Amino acid sequence: METINCNLCGSEDYRVVYSMPDRLYFKDEWFTVVECKSCGLGFVNPRPAYSEIFRYYPPSFYESFEKERNFHQRRYRTQAKFLTNIPRGKDKKSLLDVGCANGDFPRYMQNLGWQVEGVEVSPNSKPISDFKIYNQEFTDIPICEPYYDAITAWAVLEHVHNPMAYFQKAAEVLKVGGFFVFLVTNFESISSRCLFREDLPRHLYFYTEETVRKYLASSGLELIKSDYSDKIYPMHPVNWLRYYVYRHIKRCDLKWEDIPPTRIEYFNKHKINKSLGSNFRYAVSRSPFTLIDMILMPLFEKYQILSNNYGIVTYIATKP
Ligand SMILES: [Zn+2]
Repeated sequence: METINCNLCGSEDYRVVYSMPDRLYFKDEWFTVVECKSCGLGFVNPRPAYSEIFRYYPPSFYESFEKERNFHQRRYRTQAKFLTNIPRGKDKKSLLDVGCANGDFPRYMQNLGWQVEGVEVSPNSKPISDFKIYNQEFTDIPICEPYYDAITAWAVLEHVHNPMAYFQKAAEVLKVGGFFVFLVTNFESISSRCLFREDLPRHLYFYTEETVRKYLASSGLELIKSDYSDKIYPMHPVNWLRYYVYRHIKRCDLKWEDIPPTRIEYFNKHKINKSLGSNFRYAVSRSPFTLIDMILMPLFEKYQILSNNYGIVTYIATKP
C-alpha cells in the first residue's frame, strides 16, 4: 500500500469522504476515499501500489464481457454514436481504444469501417489477434506524435494510477481536431459520494466536471460536451431514500454498515440464480422502507439524469 498526494494539483491536504470494503473479491479489505481540499479531486488513499493492483482483477472480472454479451453489444452501439460527429473523409479514420479488455468495442468500430487499435494492460483479458493491440500501459505505447482521430477510454480513468499521465498522453497522440471521449463516474453525484456505488479499490480516482476541465486544460485539451446518462453504464442510486432519511431526519451520514446487501449479494449468499422468482424473493425479504426506496429509485434516477447529476458521465474533449 502507498500514500499519495493529489494527482491533479499536488496538494497533500485532503479530507476523508467515506470508507468501504472491496465489495467483489476481498471483503475484509477496507479502503478510504478522500477529497483534495485544494482542487476537489477524489481518490483512494492509501491505495494498493501499482505492483499490488493486479490481484484485484482476477480472470472472473473479465468474464462479464462474455456472459452479458447483449448488454455490452448495446453499449458498443451507444458508444459508437459519440464518434459519429468526427468528419469522415475518404481515408479510414483511426481509433485507439484504451482499456479495451477483450477488444470487443474496437472490433465493433472496425466493422463500421474504422482503422482500430487497442491498449489493454491486464494479463487476464483474452488475447487479441485481429487488430493491433498494445499490452502495456497507454503512457508507454511507442507512439509519440499526433496519430489518432479518436481516442476512447470507457470506464478506464477511474482505474489508473496516474491519470495526469493519461490525459497528457492522449493529448500527445491525438490529431488536432480529434476527439478524446471518455466515460467516468461522477464524484458530484450522491451515488458516487454517499451511496457506496464505486468499485473500490479497482476505482482509484473520482472526477467532477470541474476536475475533468482542470485535467484537460493542463494537458492542452478542451471539453466540448458532458453527457450525463445511463445509456452506456448505469449507476443505480440504490438506497437514495435511506441516504436522505439519515441526512435530514437522523442527521448523520450513511455508513457502509447501514447499507442492506444488494440483490446480487443476496443471490450469492443464498446460492440462487437470477430469475423473476428470485427477484420476488429478494423483494419480500426487504423491509417496507427498503421496498419504497427500490420502487421509487427509477424516478430519482431520471431526476439525476435530467439535472446533470447522474453517477456516470461521458466527456467529449478535443485538441484545439
Ligand atoms: Zn488537488
